[in-house]
Amino acid sequence: MTGITKDHPRYESLITREKIVEGVNMGITSKQGLVAQGRGEAFDYILGEKTIESAAIAERAAVAYILLAKNPIISVNGNTGALVPDQLVSLADITGARLEVNLFHRSDARVHKITEHLKAHGAGVVLGGKGDKRLDLSHDRAIVDEEGIFSADVVLVPLEDGDRCQKLVEMGKTVITIDLNPLSRTSLTSTVTIVDNVTRALNNMIQFTKDMKGGSKDSLQAVIDAYDNDRVISDALYSMQEHLKNKAEEKGITWI
Ligand code: ATP
Repeated sequence: MTGITKDHPRYESLITREKIVEGVNMGITSKQGLVAQGRGEAFDYILGEKTIESAAIAERAAVAYILLAKNPIISVNGNTGALVPDQLVSLADITGARLEVNLFHRSDARVHKITEHLKAHGAGVVLGGKGDKRLDLSHDRAIVDEEGIFSADVVLVPLEDGDRCQKLVEMGKTVITIDLNPLSRTSLTSTVTIVDNVTRALNNMIQFTKDMKGGSKDSLQAVIDAYDNDRVISDALYSMQEHLKNKAEEKGITWI
């Protein structure tokens, strides 16, 4: 890693960037993943690089869905594999969900590398290597495991692409996404849209699972019943606008 010191105002963001570059060097992350990260960084800056309250509400609803699911799957791509391997493994462990590698730019070698990387971070079984079913999509994200994403009732897909998200929803699945762009097709299609950085979102979800796991099924269902995804997306947009307005005023720029 380069000499980034903790007093740098963009410290977390720059460390995240370094991890993605390392992911590319290790053959885990695709070059296109670097560009996706850049887009995420821009939205995170506009959001204020923090978890907003509505995102925390979405994260709690996501945990409730996962804890009530019969076959919950956490989909892992090259970006999340590089950025948050420990958190993916922890979340799978405490919720009972299984990890499945699923890639847009798929090669057997990269699936294998990500699988081994997750195992080195403590994962047990990692699905995705069989690829024995296809979703009705024209790209490689269509390739899934029958016992995993294909038959899952709840799928957590951090950093999704809009096409697959839509397909999974059409198949009747509950789809939870983490995407810093509240207006992406992914965000607008999901059952639960978490507008937060994946690095913060997964840490929060691990903590919320610890808090909620002992609760009754009814209490988890009540969290789901009270959840309003349209409101969460609306609030993310409003929060971005407010953050920009405050920033502008702080710097003496008039907000018109
Ligand atoms: P869609 O197909 O849904 O319209 P897209 O084409 O806008 O998606 P992609 O380039 O496929 O987007 O994926 C990148 C998405 O992931 C962007 O919306 C970006 O904001 C988001 N993103 C990137 N890095 C992160 C991160 N660390 N945490 C959360 N979201 C991120």
